[in-house]
Amino acid sequence: MTNIDVGQEKIQKQNPYIDFEKVLQQFNTPQLQCETDGGIATIPLADEISFDSWQSDIPQEYMKLSAEQLTERIGIARQKLGSELIVLGHHYQREDIIQYADYRGDSFALAQYAATQNDAKYIIFCGVHFMAEAADILAQPDQHVILPNIEAGCSMADMASEPDLYSAWNELSAIFDGTDDLIPVTYMNSAASLKSFCGEHGGIVCTSSNAEKVLEWAFEQGKRVFFFPDQHLGRNTGHDMGISDNEMSLWNWRLGPGRLGGLNRENLLQSRIILWQGHCSVHQRFSLTQIDQARERFPEVEILVHPECRAEVVDAADASGSTGFIVDYVANAEAGSVIGIGTEINLVSRLSHEYPDKTIFCLDPVVCPCSTMYRVHPAYLAWVMESLVKGHVVNQISVDKNIKHYAAVALQRMLNIK
Ligand code: SF4
Repeated sequence: MTNIDVGQEKIQKQNPYIDFEKVLQQFNTPQLQCETDGGIATIPLADEISFDSWQSDIPQEYMKLSAEQLTERIGIARQKLGSELIVLGHHYQREDIIQYADYRGDSFALAQYAATQNDAKYIIFCGVHFMAEAADILAQPDQHVILPNIEAGCSMADMASEPDLYSAWNELSAIFDGTDDLIPVTYMNSAASLKSFCGEHGGIVCTSSNAEKVLEWAFEQGKRVFFFPDQHLGRNTGHDMGISDNEMSLWNWRLGPGRLGGLNRENLLQSRIILWQGHCSVHQRFSLTQIDQARERFPEVEILVHPECRAEVVDAADASGSTGFIVDYVANAEAGSVIGIGTEINLVSRLSHEYPDKTIFCLDPVVCPCSTMYRVHPAYLAWVMESLVKGHVVNQISVDKNIKHYAAVALQRMLNIK
């Protein structure tokens, strides 16, 4: 057995829905389509191999339901709940979930939308943990925000914890003789406690659609920015603002306290942006080789990537932006356009089906779903909705009121920036 066979066998075990024959066939055709262009079909929860890392206290009755049974039950519960409920769906959710969303968007659009839905008693947020937290922070006190699967987190958000951040802040304070001129900026993809830290320390939240404007605001408040948790969004935004790599440094939080994140005093004093060493495992997969291959096959191709990709990938692309930007870009492209996209597969697959007059494909020829977004299986949606019908709120996301206060300050600063 070759190394490729061994790798394939391992991936196949983890992702039984991948048809490798088809993937390899498609990679060798001019279509360059992703394996999941037909959508990742829902299989009963009991058959999901990765279930052992998902929320397991879901009642047994939901484990074996087929996609058709789940669709029927969700539809009935949805009807019973009427206008008391809104369902929000992030662009990276699988097709079998997004079909129930009253509103779909990127994390910024969803947070803004959720803040205007004062009449809904329940907000089911089909996305990941930090998004539901942001919705709860901006929601009315009598509203309930629910995350269908409590284990749907974000590996990038998990790379920045409150203790690691406080430890770094104290070390930086010693170098800069205080932190008056150091403005903390957290990406939306972070825990509520980090947003709260920013609110309390004169900082702000940003998303991939407003990062440049937010950094402009931050540089009006102080000389330096401490940007977390995504190094790539911070670096790409710095480049867009004309800030060179010499003026940015990378804080390695894994080194632990007392190590200055692997930097030295001189590095730090010349830095305008200090980047936290975090990344998105999905967007880090996109590479220059993939872009070169796409350009070789389709000389007219437009390459469109998310700013969570590495700087060399963003620099080699024709355009980069948030998922909202990607959706608009594709919608406004002329019929016949060929667009290679570097972002999560569920969104790329959806766009490819919504615009059959354009050739839309994922730059990564092997399927690349966000494994935590994927944890929102329709069985969880059925469970939380049917529980609401019976008068029980399960999987409510409720941010501690002390954290909520300053997190709301940081979010509101962001929402005030036009
Ligand atoms: S795509 Fe990346 S940043 Fe977004 S939720 Fe998944 S792991 Fe987190």
